[in-house]
Amino acid sequence: MIQKPRGTEDLIEAEVKEFFALEMIIRNIVDLYNFSEIRTPIFESVDLFKRGVGQETDVVSKEMYTFFDKKNRELALRPEGTAPTVRAILENKLYINEKLPLKLFYFASMFRYERPQSGRQRQFNQFGVEVFGPKSSELDAELMCVAVNILNAIGIENHTVHLNCLVNDEQRKKYIIDLKEYLKSFDLCSDCQTRIETNPLRVLDCKVDGDKFVDVKDMKDYLSDEDKQYYDDLKKDLENLGIDYKEDKMLVRGLDYYTGFVFEIKDDKGSTLLGGGRYDKLVNELGNIDLPAAGFAFGMERMILALKNNNISLSPQSSLDAYVIGLSKKAKQFANILLLMLRNAGLKVDVDFMDRSFKSAFKQADKYNAKNIIIIGDNELKENVVVIKNQETKNEKKVKFEDIVKTIIEGK
Ligand code: AMP
Repeated sequence: MIQKPRGTEDLIEAEVKEFFALEMIIRNIVDLYNFSEIRTPIFESVDLFKRGVGQETDVVSKEMYTFFDKKNRELALRPEGTAPTVRAILENKLYINEKLPLKLFYFASMFRYERPQSGRQRQFNQFGVEVFGPKSSELDAELMCVAVNILNAIGIENHTVHLNCLVNDEQRKKYIIDLKEYLKSFDLCSDCQTRIETNPLRVLDCKVDGDKFVDVKDMKDYLSDEDKQYYDDLKKDLENLGIDYKEDKMLVRGLDYYTGFVFEIKDDKGSTLLGGGRYDKLVNELGNIDLPAAGFAFGMERMILALKNNNISLSPQSSLDAYVIGLSKKAKQFANILLLMLRNAGLKVDVDFMDRSFKSAFKQADKYNAKNIIIIGDNELKENVVVIKNQETKNEKKVKFEDIVKTIIEGK
């Protein structure tokens, strides 16, 4: 039998409902903040990610699903959502002043060739938020407020916001010289031996050795006066909004484009629930237009996992208003018409299509959590009635055809 590709998942029944419930809560929250949705293609030119995310990042150098189309164009299944969003803004000229600030969100499948494990798939879904236009600490604080708001709304209240600010330009060069000097005394893992040349900041969040670098210098001590002022403003804005944060000098994030504040929200076990930050140069990098930006994203599957670990279910238990059992061919034909009438009245109903025995049809009704069971046999048809059994009160009564809809609605 052909099986699903490694690192992918089938979402079935209750799992889909949980996904949908999470999505609806998020949609309601981003709507309150006046965000609008963007949908970009599942595949893009490989160059978009090479230029937008960075050739040296793991996402681009090791994890992309790339292929050539019939015209020999090199394409990649989307590994992340920020670069495609920026491309779409540029291509659709959404950067004109009247449209700013652009406050966008997306739900999208992402593809990364990673080693599958719990919470890490090769196809996963992200929710992401991106804002473009002003370089505003208030907007950054609002962004983090959206993230915190979502976590609180779904009941994951035990979380910590970790905050850092990346150093830029000349100051970054100075920091990197000192960082490399500091790292000389460590035996770095093979990945970090490459990173130290290509992207030295990333050594700090090495999953193997990260913990060893506790006394590394804080890059915030290298911030330019302007960047320091901005970061101080952001902290004040967060305090004004009642958002607690923990400054974390090791936090650098895995993607190359961040240029200012970065943040992650972790659960009480230290697992990262979401992350993001400011990336003021990416739009210019891809389209020669200065458009400061910031954003965050999280994996929907990871969030569902976090919900499970916290024993939280977002989707209400589903039920039927009525389950119909037809006991003969004629009764089944009548049942079909009855179902139409009930559904037209806005009632959620289903019927036994499997010719089950009376007993197992009742069991099926219980499985569907049916509030009523409607039984139709030839005798009932002759009398123009059906039998309705209310599963809550266990009352059973004969109901005339014309009163069926009313009886089910009243018993709702
Ligand atoms: P990133 O785009 O790498 O900053 O990741 C943002 C979020 O996406 C992470 O915090 C995770 O929740 C989620 N994520 C990243 N990679 C995976 C993966 N392979 N499988 C499932 N979720 C992922």
